[in-house]
Amino acid sequence: MHSDHAAALTSLLDDSSRVIAQPQVVEQLSRDFYWYSPVLRKQLDGKVGDLVVQPLTTFEIQNVLRYCHAHDLPVTIRGAGTGNYGQAVPLHGGIVLDLARMDQIEAIQSDGVAVCQPGTRLGVLENEARKWGFELRCYPSTIVKATVGGFLGGGSGGVGSVAHGNLRDFDTVRALEVVTMEAEPRVVLHEGAAVHEILHAWGTNGVISRIRLALTPAVTWAQCAVAFETFEAAYDFSERIAKGAEWTKRLVTTFEWPISSFFSPVRQYASDGKALIFFMIAAAQLAAFEAAARAAGGEITYSGAYVGLRTRPLLSDYTWNHTTLWAMKTDEAYTYLQCAFDPAAVREQLRELKERFGKEILFHMEFWKNGEGVMIPGAIPVVYYTTEERLNEIIDFCRAIGVFVANPHVNYVEGGGRYRADNVQLLAKRRYDPKGLLNPGKMLTFEPEAAAR
Ligand code: FAD
Repeated sequence: MHSDHAAALTSLLDDSSRVIAQPQVVEQLSRDFYWYSPVLRKQLDGKVGDLVVQPLTTFEIQNVLRYCHAHDLPVTIRGAGTGNYGQAVPLHGGIVLDLARMDQIEAIQSDGVAVCQPGTRLGVLENEARKWGFELRCYPSTIVKATVGGFLGGGSGGVGSVAHGNLRDFDTVRALEVVTMEAEPRVVLHEGAAVHEILHAWGTNGVISRIRLALTPAVTWAQCAVAFETFEAAYDFSERIAKGAEWTKRLVTTFEWPISSFFSPVRQYASDGKALIFFMIAAAQLAAFEAAARAAGGEITYSGAYVGLRTRPLLSDYTWNHTTLWAMKTDEAYTYLQCAFDPAAVREQLRELKERFGKEILFHMEFWKNGEGVMIPGAIPVVYYTTEERLNEIIDFCRAIGVFVANPHVNYVEGGGRYRADNVQLLAKRRYDPKGLLNPGKMLTFEPEAAAR
């Protein structure tokens, strides 16, 4: 990249420390957790931006985008870079727009809505919300590092989704402001259903610069681990708790053996050969919950208070996509899939998968409530990777038996399974980024304005 760009951007920000050209730093801030996928590793290793720019305000974002638009410079937005699909990896160099320093919480309103900048860490927001009697409705297991903007741009759900659905359900994202990539960048407010034009678009159709996020009243939580002789018995109990409206829960995660043997810091809570479930349950219900678990044949291997994100052990550190991380630490050949089973056929689907693939696929279930209030037996199964062909065979088999797969081994929005069938993200990109400079290459159905003519 021409060194004039660095000088020009420095003068725009009036601060040389926020325009970074050192190759090691640029390389580091061009990566995310795409290496979870052996397929993406091959595609994305070595892809880097040219410069990192760190705005502090919406006004500065507008100035940077105006400059990039005038000089046809690609811009890849970055929160904390914890995404798993290479969403934040620049495919065509250019500017990495690092928003981690735009981290102000403007307000925790008395109606339970947080107003914040995109670089706000989810963990910071959770802690602040709790001071005002609220907590996040749902969060990824990367809560401590991940940003609110990155969660909206590239995430889906996590801890809390069993009670409150995913990020895109139940009006959790009340509104967002987005900066457009045009000759004169605008700040456009998206409210209500219009937020879906921007959510999970991987930063391809605008820069989210301000967010209004609905919270939920805070609960005093406890954590509990329960072991069962068989995966089937564990699944039955976890489904009962997930579905049971009488239980106040934030996390219900079920592991087939030997997944729990991978969790070295909490290995003592796993029983050899047994399936394990991790729960976050209302502290007030803990005694009744433990009694129900024992009556169902479970063995309580751990139970304790939850005192916030510093709690040790923090069971959520082993759930959602952290589970895959622990598996990969044990054997690098492990990777994962993201699935949603059919609530009416889940047991049969699990049986068919086990019969066909044996230990090549290890079940890790995560429940979430969908937008219609139906409890979905979701899963992030751990898969023993041998070849891309075999991985695709597993995906194809899942789909053939009615298991939905959001494929985490592709690097474009449309392939991941959370792309909107009504194309609203694409339509927004046509309006807000007609030159196709935002995260180019990640939305395959988009054709830049000049090429489309
Ligand atoms: P980044 O990775 O920086 O960005 C994600 C995407 O959003 C990129 O495409 C980026 O360009 C775009 N983006 C970032 N900021 C903005 C903005 N302001 N405007 C527009 N676009 C923007 N995800 C889940 O949903 N649930 C989980 O439970 C979960 N568990 C995980 C566990 C592990 C161990 C790992 C490594 C990942 C996990 N993830 C999970 C994925 C990821 O951590 C989350 O989605 C997280 O919220 C991403 O936030 P981030 O700040 O790191 O975003």
